[in-house]
Amino acid sequence: MWNKVLDEYALRGYKPRILIVDDQPVNIHTLSAVFHNELDMVVATSGEKALHLAINQKPDLILLDILMPDMDGYEVCRQLKNEPATKWIPVIFVTAETEADVEAYGFEIGAVDFISKPINPAIVRARVMTHLMLKLYMDNMQEIAWLDGLTGLHNRRRFDEMLKQDWLLCRREQRPLSIIMLDVDFFKCFNDTYGHQKGDECLQAVASALQKTLHRPMDMVFRYGGEEFACLLPMTDLAGAQESAQKMLDAVKALKIPHAASSASPFVTISIGIACEIPQKDTGEIDLLTHSDHALYQSKRDGRNCISTKPVVASK
Ligand code: GH3
Ligand code: MG
Ligand code: MG
Repeated sequence: MWNKVLDEYALRGYKPRILIVDDQPVNIHTLSAVFHNELDMVVATSGEKALHLAINQKPDLILLDILMPDMDGYEVCRQLKNEPATKWIPVIFVTAETEADVEAYGFEIGAVDFISKPINPAIVRARVMTHLMLKLYMDNMQEIAWLDGLTGLHNRRRFDEMLKQDWLLCRREQRPLSIIMLDVDFFKCFNDTYGHQKGDECLQAVASALQKTLHRPMDMVFRYGGEEFACLLPMTDLAGAQESAQKMLDAVKALKIPHAASSASPFVTISIGIACEIPQKDTGEIDLLTHSDHALYQSKRDGRNCISTKPVVASK
């Protein structure tokens, strides 16, 4: 039965990854022995390290000891559930405590299950596999909910999630986050001239051209809505974002999709707005988004088929 879970993961091209957190290496050893080499295993001996690994290694499940010096399992769980990048990772507490109210409290702060020490390997395996299966279903559903049906790009809902995640990441690292907003020029006229079907095809071609210009793994392009697209470029400064934006402007031009009703060009073009900021505690991601939108409207006012920037000076 449980091998089916592993097969489902294998179909998607990877092994499930679990993070085991315990201050006692011997406990980590006992738990990891349950899974032989079936799972990709990451281990941490403190809460601090666990939080770091949860963000960077994106485990599918976390086995979390409660009693640890410095930061206990409850605090680790609370922080995981507060962080957009880790809040959906299922957490199973592994504990010698058997009091009902201890368990109830664990569920209240977001755990999905409990495993009692000393562990029973068959039960640990069953519980872990059950939650890995649920995690896979959840990932599948989420992936569908995040996709735009027409272009195959990620959609606005995904953009909102990623903007929050990237903002927190860049704030922690004190690195710049760039947003590029793009909008097809005179697209209403395009539909009026060539028909809605050709309009849809044009959006698909533009989406694919934009996607092909991005090469860094963290860069993402989204269909923001209608004929508007957005890119998130974490760890990218203004100069880098301008370079990417220029590639996008050129890539859409190079499609040479005729647009007889456009006064900007005989072909389909886009207008672009860029905003860039090193996130601070007293600034927010929504302001950065607004700045990129203002920059886009500046490009529209400047005659379209061009790029405007709005660098935001971080207040210290
Ligand atoms: P501007 O250069 O100022 O951006 O002008 P515009 O005509 O592109 O902007 P406007 O917002 O007036 O019109 C956007 C048009 O995009 C209107 C809408 O019918 C069309 N549109 C939005 N989503 C889709 C879609 O999925 N398919 C098609 N074919 N058209 C769409
Ligand atoms: Mg438009
Ligand atoms: Mg528009």
